[in-house]
Amino acid sequence: MSHEEWVKQIDLELDGELSLSERAALARHLAGCRHCAEARVSHLELRVAFARSAGEPHARTVPRPQLSGSTLAFWMVLSLLAGAAAGWLGHIRWGGPGPDSLESTRATFLAQ
Ligand SMILES: [Zn+2]
Repeated sequence: MSHEEWVKQIDLELDGELSLSERAALARHLAGCRHCAEARVSHLELRVAFARSAGEPHARTVPRPQLSGSTLAFWMVLSLLAGAAAGWLGHIRWGGPGPDSLESTRATFLAQ
């Protein structure tokens, strides 16, 4: 089974849809696979965020209506925007190589 398939199993496990033997197989894989173990942690944290946004921070599973449709899209857009904003701020803060700096870089290069 590939890691992608294990990650799908992780989602099913977190939904409470795996049998005991499937959960045992998954636990065995996670014990030896850092990649999938970390994927499970981030899936869990995502579910915590969903549960919090649904006002159920102590929910045992993701409140069903919250996972579908617009809420999922909302979170995806939000994380995309956060990433874009961080990149944009970084660009403003530290700047890209503008014409001036490019020119001075070339001058330094020629001087050597
Ligand atoms: Zn794995």
